[in-house]
Amino acid sequence: MGKIYDIVGVGFGPSNLALAVALEDMQDNKNLSALFLEQKKKFTWHPHMLLDGAEMQISFLKDLATLSNPSSQYTFLNYLHTVGRLALFANLRSFYPSRIEFNDYFSWVSKKLKNYVKYSCRVVDIIPHGNKPYQLLKIIFEDSNLECSHTTSVLTKNVVVASGGIPTIPTFVKRKNNSQRVWHSAEYLQKIEKFKKNSEYPYHFCVVGGGQSAAEVAYDLYQTFPAAKITCVYRGFGYKVADDSEFTNEIFGQATVDLFFSASENVRKKLLEAHGDTNYSVVDPELIQKLYRIKYEESVKNCQRLQFKRLSSLEGVLEEENVEIEINNFLLPSQTEMLHVDAAILATGYSYPNPPPALETLSEHFINNQLGMPLVTRYHQVETDAQLKAGIYLQGYNESTHGLSDTLLSLSSIRANEILDQIILSNKHLSKEINLKEKHTLIAKSTTAHEVINV
Ligand SMILES: Cc1cc2nc3c(=O)[nH]c(=O)nc-3n(C[C@H](O)[C@H](O)[C@H](O)COP(=O)(O)OP(=O)(O)OC[C@H]3O[C@@H](n4cnc5c(N)ncnc54)[C@H](O)[C@@H]3O)c2cc1C
Repeated sequence: MGKIYDIVGVGFGPSNLALAVALEDMQDNKNLSALFLEQKKKFTWHPHMLLDGAEMQISFLKDLATLSNPSSQYTFLNYLHTVGRLALFANLRSFYPSRIEFNDYFSWVSKKLKNYVKYSCRVVDIIPHGNKPYQLLKIIFEDSNLECSHTTSVLTKNVVVASGGIPTIPTFVKRKNNSQRVWHSAEYLQKIEKFKKNSEYPYHFCVVGGGQSAAEVAYDLYQTFPAAKITCVYRGFGYKVADDSEFTNEIFGQATVDLFFSASENVRKKLLEAHGDTNYSVVDPELIQKLYRIKYEESVKNCQRLQFKRLSSLEGVLEEENVEIEINNFLLPSQTEMLHVDAAILATGYSYPNPPPALETLSEHFINNQLGMPLVTRYHQVETDAQLKAGIYLQGYNESTHGLSDTLLSLSSIRANEILDQIILSNKHLSKEINLKEKHTLIAKSTTAHEVINV
């Protein structure tokens, strides 16, 4: 039998990167072995949305370590100090670094922790291993580092799945395979590259969505293509401001996770509804101002490169030579408007299926709630039946039970430490159970042999 890891992480985005940091920072980590499997070739955080000027939507104090261990060497401040920008950053008088800089910080940490991770490895399945009750999991993954990429596996006592969200594209969107004209905002910078070769051309772009990504893409297109027309389609009346005010911001705190977790289903639903505008379908006020200024200046010049179709829903997308977009305005429901554009960018959000795809096989052992979703403990562990004793932990899939911080960066360092503590505690319980079982077997054997052993 090959090596058995204490922890295998699926995905190496910020959530599992924070777990690697927590492991390193834990002084007695020497006894815990961990491996993270990441499908990308190297660390990158939302690489195709690293737009010039885009800022973080959390304070740098909510980095990979500070909230749980401010003296960690993996803090954003230590990164700034190491790269020689601490004094300059202090002069900025801002808590909000650029997204490009935060990605650089994450990458800096990931390089320091490179021994924990194997890139170009995509986890395709996780199955129980050994005898019942299963204490081990087999993590099956495609390893593209090998000459002819093939499927291989590792064994672990615990798995932490943090594989992120899946870009959502409405089912009615009919586009070509690997379309170069209709794509999700998650692919924005990669796919727009081809158009930049002819940046003076009067393209017509359509941007769908009313959230931060949609507004950022619209602004970026406007700046990058001086002759292009950009039509923004969104359901709301106007772009809504993201609520990041002081009292409300406590929704992202650790204490709120306790509160949220212990609340009734009804209260949880109300909280999510009331404070969804901290994260969903909302835009930073500065960006709204920039877009509105453009609208105003264009009205002065009597030119309309940037157009806003408010109260409108996307009804169809058909990609042929160009792209046909069908829009319905809520005020004129009987009339459908058709747009013919060169490309459409769908900033239509992400979904977090629970259980996530990698856990589908194991899900027959999960104890589900009334909604058919796995029951998860306060400390992020999936509750399993008596046949499965290996630990399964989730990061990013528990918004309905742990609140709005679950898919975000706010609590990544705290959550990682909670998971690690829980794994250590469960390992102790499990080894105690195993020891007890061994002792009982010994007693049983010795009793049959009429021997007396003092256990
Ligand atoms: C453009 C953008 C900006 C954002 N800005 C902020 C912000 O400022 N503040 C904030 O709090 N939140 C922000 N978010 C929310 C975002 O979800 C979190 O920032 C963060 O990415 C969550 O980290 P994660 O590790 O859980 O997931 P991800 O960052 O999505 O990482 C998941 C990783 O798992 C890998 N993976 C997936 N499936 C597999 C598999 N089967 N095998 C191996 N690897 C796999 C993926 O390649 C990826 O690297 C932003 C989101 C977007 C899209």
